[in-house]
Amino acid sequence: MSIHNGRLVLAPRDPAWAPNPSAPNPNALTTALAAALAAAGLLGPALGPGADAYAAGPGFLELVAFTGCAVQVAVTPDVGGDRPFCHIRVVGPWAEPRLLCGRNTRPPRCPACRAQLRDWRYALGATPRATGPLPCPACGAPAAASAWDWKDTGGWARLSVWIEEVFPGEATPTDALMALLGEATGTPWRHFYIQD
Ligand SMILES: [Zn+2]
Repeated sequence: MSIHNGRLVLAPRDPAWAPNPSAPNPNALTTALAAALAAAGLLGPALGPGADAYAAGPGFLELVAFTGCAVQVAVTPDVGGDRPFCHIRVVGPWAEPRLLCGRNTRPPRCPACRAQLRDWRYALGATPRATGPLPCPACGAPAAASAWDWKDTGGWARLSVWIEEVFPGEATPTDALMALLGEATGTPWRHFYIQD
């Protein structure tokens, strides 16, 4: 198995934000979000019946800005080849915020004093909770795990859009894409990068 290059994760800035759980169908907003992203050309056809994964759509390269001179974006599966295949997943909603992190995730910073929590994996335990208080080793202030500053190498979310496979920093969402996500959901979004 080849190593995971990475993914660009788009998620609401409010880690607790999710579609109204009392709505008749809480998945409806995920569907509406996917429809809005498809209408804008980010998403192409679904990669299989009932799948949450989509091929890159005709507007993909206008909505996601790739940097570097050697970028080769394969938007169709490169059968037998070794180029990572760009595709998009609309993931969630989950009942509670989940920590999206990977081998690249840096220690988060205390929201009160900016100190780093170096042993964050140990401090969070096996089942991280967004509301679980993480005491700061420097100032002692307990802040919810999701309130720590995870920068652009991790974050908490109940709903997110994953763009695979993207090296950290290799691609950034355009202002147009961030505006589209905000309009489709009524809440501002952010982005970060994860490497499994
Ligand atoms: Zn602190």
